Amino acid sequence: MAFDTDSVTNQTIDLDKPDFKFNNEVNSFSKVNVNSCWHCKSCSGGCPFSFAMDYHPNQVIRLVQLGQKQAVLECQTIWICVGCHTCSTNCPLASDMSSIMDSLRQIALRENVRIAEPDIFNFPQEVSNPIERYGRTHKLEIMLRYKLVKRNWFEDMDVGLKMLAKRKLDLLPSKIDKMTDIKQIFNDRAKRAI
Ligand code: SF4
Ligand code: SF4
Repeated sequence: MAFDTDSVTNQTIDLDKPDFKFNNEVNSFSKVNVNSCWHCKSCSGGCPFSFAMDYHPNQVIRLVQLGQKQAVLECQTIWICVGCHTCSTNCPLASDMSSIMDSLRQIALRENVRIAEPDIFNFPQEVSNPIERYGRTHKLEIMLRYKLVKRNWFEDMDVGLKMLAKRKLDLLPSKIDKMTDIKQIFNDRAKRAI
């Protein structure tokens, strides 16, 4: 049986292969009962980024309810959500949509599915790497590593040169004294990940 989600993408979903274990997993990982959603669309109506999403927030919930694991994990929406909580504030059930989206991102990474918005994933990753190593950011390294991932060495080159000329970019990284605290934060984060 096919089901038109009436989404921004007009994608057709195959309801013959629901994965209800996925539904349970999202409930338990996010600590939100996605099956209680009324589909009043207050979340989607208030989301400041719904214009850029392939599925609106309540549609993502509907897909989880229907056990459409592949469609959810491969959609752009889970990467576009910035966790601003506007939706939860509007929701009559105060459902924590940010927690749902966060859980879906974690599951997508664990399952190695195609990331629909790789730039949105790569950039914060490149920002957090030097924080883990030095306890603070090192902008030059972040820029170079991000360029390496994107393979577009010359885009924004003029901005980088201006920043270097104005001494806004340190050539070498500097480390904070209390690296043990930083290591603890990253260890805790690794333990929380599934
Ligand atoms: S606002 Fe809450 S109840 Fe309404 S559709 Fe969104 S998540 Fe569901
Ligand atoms: S938390 Fe995500 S889904 Fe909710 S309003 Fe903000 S961007 Fe939209």
